[in-house]
Amino acid sequence: MNQNLMDKIVSLCKRRGFIFQSSEIYGGLANTWDYGPFGVELKNNLKKAWWKSVVYQRNDIFGMDAAILMHPKVWEASGHVENFFDLKSDCKGCKKRFKTADLKDAKKCPDCGSELTDSRAFNLMFKTHQGPIEDHSNQIYLRPETAQGMFVNFLNILDSKHPKLPFGMAQIGKSFRNEITPGNITFRTREFEQMEIEYFVKPAEADKYYESWVEDRFNWYINLGINKENIRKRPHAKDELAHYAKACTDIEYSFPFSAAGGSASGRGWSELEGIANRTDFDLKQHEKFSGKSFEYFDDAAKEKFHPYIIEPSGGVDRSVLAFLVDSYYEEKVKDETRVVLKLHRDLAPTKIAVLPLLKNRAPLVELARKITADLKKHFVTVYDDTAAIGKLYRRQDEVGTLFCTTVDVQSLEDNQVTVRDRDTMKQDRVNIEKLREYFTDKLIN
Ligand code: ATP
Repeated sequence: MNQNLMDKIVSLCKRRGFIFQSSEIYGGLANTWDYGPFGVELKNNLKKAWWKSVVYQRNDIFGMDAAILMHPKVWEASGHVENFFDLKSDCKGCKKRFKTADLKDAKKCPDCGSELTDSRAFNLMFKTHQGPIEDHSNQIYLRPETAQGMFVNFLNILDSKHPKLPFGMAQIGKSFRNEITPGNITFRTREFEQMEIEYFVKPAEADKYYESWVEDRFNWYINLGINKENIRKRPHAKDELAHYAKACTDIEYSFPFSAAGGSASGRGWSELEGIANRTDFDLKQHEKFSGKSFEYFDDAAKEKFHPYIIEPSGGVDRSVLAFLVDSYYEEKVKDETRVVLKLHRDLAPTKIAVLPLLKNRAPLVELARKITADLKKHFVTVYDDTAAIGKLYRRQDEVGTLFCTTVDVQSLEDNQVTVRDRDTMKQDRVNIEKLREYFTDKLIN
């Protein structure tokens, strides 16, 4: 049943232009995906919602966009060269590959029960070379996380913005990991986008800010419409924590698959975002490797110290997938099944569709096109007259369009159109001159 749901979502994504397999005409590049016209809108809207909530609506967080390529010393300082390994185990029977950390029993395949190989280490960083000579001295990495781009700019932010603690940096960008168990469409891929915050605090206040970030980030998903029963907070046990971390909580979503395999229900809780108290580890490491002081001077207390870092680190692609799964509904309407994506208004790729009831009546089409052009100045609006009205509604429901505005013969006389709400299917008759105000109220206020 659940796999069935995933199949339906993957099929909808391809059929309607949300997500396509990369390089499909050549047989596809495994586990790599391209976002189509609706996918890119949804993903951009998700990133905008995040940026608005963590940068624009606060006074203490600065936006950043650091380069993907960084000095190789960064990855020595961060510990990635030495420690960014996954342990993998292969099944001798069904040949499936597992992350050893995901296994309950490291000897037995969770899918077929056969014996597993001993686990082997595998560094997840993609290597490449800068410049024409491919030798070790020119070797660099594609960043496996965006976080380091912010740590290495800590001093630049101090010097250019002169912030007082607590303050933070926020960044959205691509990261690359040579994952050993990619899969479940965009859930785990080798190229993906992250949205990360590094929030610098006084060590004595770290616990307090850690707790409040866990709440803030959890509520962000709820406020964007995720069903409460499908999301949870999972604090890490002591033995799960990275050696430098004092605490970590994952925000998990109940996906209709089990990333680790072997789930009886077919559903599995998997990480959407992790919030960690990273202590002063990162700043001290960069101090050690760069020879520059990463201390913060507290004017009031007249003392110098290394701030602690609270890091909320989320995945853009994983969140997009969670919102797609969560908003997918099949509803019986009379004898038909209506497929509808009930995406939050801030996430829906298209806000308004304008549909003429009859496409061969020139004045109707002209009016519908004029309304479209006017609305386009303010809202993401499309025009469609390529099918009968019932089919046009179904098409818009499937991609989550919030409102369908139908122009009919009556509109030419009374200057009114019918606006249908995606979720309730309730229809309002609205004066054309009042449409902008009507949608501003529904979409922005
Ligand atoms: P996982 O163990 O599930 O792969 P992680 O603990 O390694 O994730 P982090 O290093 O904490 O992940 O990265 C922060 C976020 O980035 C994750 O919560 C997830 O949303 C996203 N992310 C990490 N790896 C991938 C990936 N390979 N594909 C897609 N998203 C990813």
